[in-house]
This record gives sequence, structure tokens and C-alpha cells, in this order.
Amino acid sequence: MNRFTIATATSYDDASAIVKSDRFALPILKAGGMDVVDHLKEGLWEPDALVDVLRAEGGAAAPIQEHREAGRSSIRLSALTTLDEIATSTLIQARCPALAQSAGSAATPQVRNVATAAGNLLQRPRCWYYRSKDFDCLKKGGDRCYAVQGLNRYHAIFGDGPCHIVHPSNLAPALMVAGGVAHLTGGDRDSIPIAKLYHTPDRGVRDEHNLKPGEVVTAITLNAAPNSGFYAIKEKQSFDWPLVMAAVALELDGTRIANARVCAGAVAPVPWMLPAVGQALRDVSIDDDAGLKAACARATQGAAPMSDNAYKLKLLPVAIRRAVLKAAGKEVE
Ligand SMILES: Cc1cc2nc3c(=O)[nH]c(=O)nc-3n(C[C@H](O)[C@H](O)[C@H](O)COP(=O)(O)OP(=O)(O)OC[C@H]3O[C@@H](n4cnc5c(N)ncnc54)[C@H](O)[C@@H]3O)c2cc1C
Repeated sequence: MNRFTIATATSYDDASAIVKSDRFALPILKAGGMDVVDHLKEGLWEPDALVDVLRAEGGAAAPIQEHREAGRSSIRLSALTTLDEIATSTLIQARCPALAQSAGSAATPQVRNVATAAGNLLQRPRCWYYRSKDFDCLKKGGDRCYAVQGLNRYHAIFGDGPCHIVHPSNLAPALMVAGGVAHLTGGDRDSIPIAKLYHTPDRGVRDEHNLKPGEVVTAITLNAAPNSGFYAIKEKQSFDWPLVMAAVALELDGTRIANARVCAGAVAPVPWMLPAVGQALRDVSIDDDAGLKAACARATQGAAPMSDNAYKLKLLPVAIRRAVLKAAGKEVE
């Protein structure tokens, strides 16, 4: 690991100003540091400064707040809200259970105590070729995605490449179905919907998000989605990223699904909305298991699995169906 300075930002504007100044050649923003420090240890990044945002709010902001306007509820999380705070918040459990469940199912208790909401959304992919400095893959300026000919068990089943990473964030699919918005400082706009935060590899393979240099996430807002649920299928229940995950937000009319928004994670380079599944779930009763299974089976339309990951085609409909049941308040196995 190289030597670097820690520059403590006193506000998000200060963090942005430090990043944009010529004080450092390669400054990198650090929140909880879980992914940033991994990159340093893996020898992938050699910054001369880590710009620490952990004191950017000066302890002033309540991490999780509800706003009510005209009978509608929205939730605001500060960028520094930890995964544990999201998972254990009774407000989020009631207003957007999918988000609480997504945070509670991520990583380990130790990671959840440190990892922040913004850092979770902006963590880099876990692809083992990207994470190894021995592979000069497309993401690092090389000429190929090694997953195409190589080991691709954990890679994408959707998207046309040219890079076949999967998006790793648990929070992102839940925020996608709840109309999440990232609030920004340091640029020429003050927010970006989570649905527009990420881009596919064909629109730039070296990074995954659409933040401009110096833009800093200050907060995240979302609409209340009380009938929402999240389900992740994993190889091991802790200390790992999901093989497949799904977030669902329902509007229910009794037991009938009046509307459904469905987003999958860990299957594509970006959080992957599945409008065909949402459409197929409409008018299905939550008690009609055959109907739910038929609707969720639509999830694999358009998938193009690689040599080792066709198993995800079986997992995805299962994860979605279980997320639907959780969204309707049912117990799932
Ligand atoms: C063993 C293990 C298992 C894990 N399992 C999961 C899992 O199942 N699901 C999951 O989602 N994650 C998982 N993770 C990843 C972990 O949740 C993320 O690394 C963590 O959430 C990142 O948050 P952080 O605050 O530490 O971010 P940092 O590491 O500090 O930052 C991550 C990225 O975000 C940028 N950044 C941070 N804050 C801001 C901001 N305010 N504005 C702009 N850019 C910012 C940084 O520059 C950096 O690029 C796991 C991690 C480990 C170690």
C-alpha cells in the first residue's frame, strides 16, 4: 500500500472542494472505507489523499427523517447513515421494508456498523478479474473481459457487455423500486434519481456511475413503499454478496396486486428493472401461488447466461416470488 494523507472534510462542500482543488494528484473520497480500503490493499488504487467525509455532517443531521406532504410520506437518509441504522430503523421497517431488509441482509454485522448508504451505492464490482491486479481487464484499461472465456459463475446474465460485472449493492434495487433519489453537492445539479445513477458498460467501462468528478452524495430520499420486500439468495448467509437478489414494491387492492415494481440485483452490470414481471403480476392474487410463479418466470426473458452462470435463471424467479410474498406481509421459507 502506498503512503497517503487523510484530509478530513468539515462539510460535503468542503469534501468536493478538496477533490476538485489541485492540492492532491489523486484524491479519493472515503466514507466508511470498506471498499476504498479494499482497493488500497488490493493494489488497485494508489491515492495520495483520502478525503474523509465521516465528519462532513458535524453530527448535526438526524440520519433518518420522515417528511409528510399532502398525505404522502417520503424518507430522507443522510449519506452517512449506516447499513445497520437502516436495517434497525423502525421507521424504515414500516415505510419501506424492502430497504430495511436489503440493508439487514448485506455483509456482516461488523460491516453493517461501518458501511454507509452512499458508499454502499457507489461500491465497485466484486468481479475477481477486476479485483486482481494481475488481470488487466477492460475496467482497468485492458483489451478484454476475462469473464467471457474464463470463470464467470458470479457474473451477469443480462446486458450486452462488453464487461460482464454484476452490480453489487443491496440497497440499489430497493431504492429503485421506492423511487430513490441521491442528493448531490459540488456540481451543477442538486440530485439524480437512483434509476439514472448507473450506466451500462457500453456507456463507459471504466466506472459504473454517472457522478461527475467532485460531485458528492449528501443524502438519499425515497418514497414510502409500505408493501415492499427484498429477498437475496446467497451461497453463505453472511460475509458474502448475494448470487441473486430482488426488491419488489406492490400496490395491493385487498389480495389483488394492483401494481408492482420489480428490480433485480447481482444479475446485470446495473440494478435491473423487470417491467415485464411487474406487468405480469398485475391482477394476480397474492394467494394464487401458481399465478405468482408464472408471473415471476418472466424474469428470465432476454437473459443471456454465460458458460457457468445459467443457475441464476433458476434462482431469479424464486427470489422475486419470495420478495413479492414478503412485500405482501407473508412469511417465506
Ligand atoms: C465481507 C463483506 C461482505 C459484503 N457483503 C455485501 C453485501 O452482501 N451486499 C452489499 O451491498 N455490500 C456488501 N459488502 C460491501 C459493503 O457493504 C460496502 O463496501 C460498503 O457499503 C461501502 O460503504 P462505505 O461507507 O464503507 O464506502 P467507502 O468504501 O468509503 O466508499 C465506497 C465508494 O463510494 C464513494 N463514496 C463514499 N461516500 C460517498 C459520497 N458521500 N459521495 C460520493 N461518493 C462516495 C467512495 O469514493 C468509494 O468509491 C460487503 C463487504 C464485505 C467486506
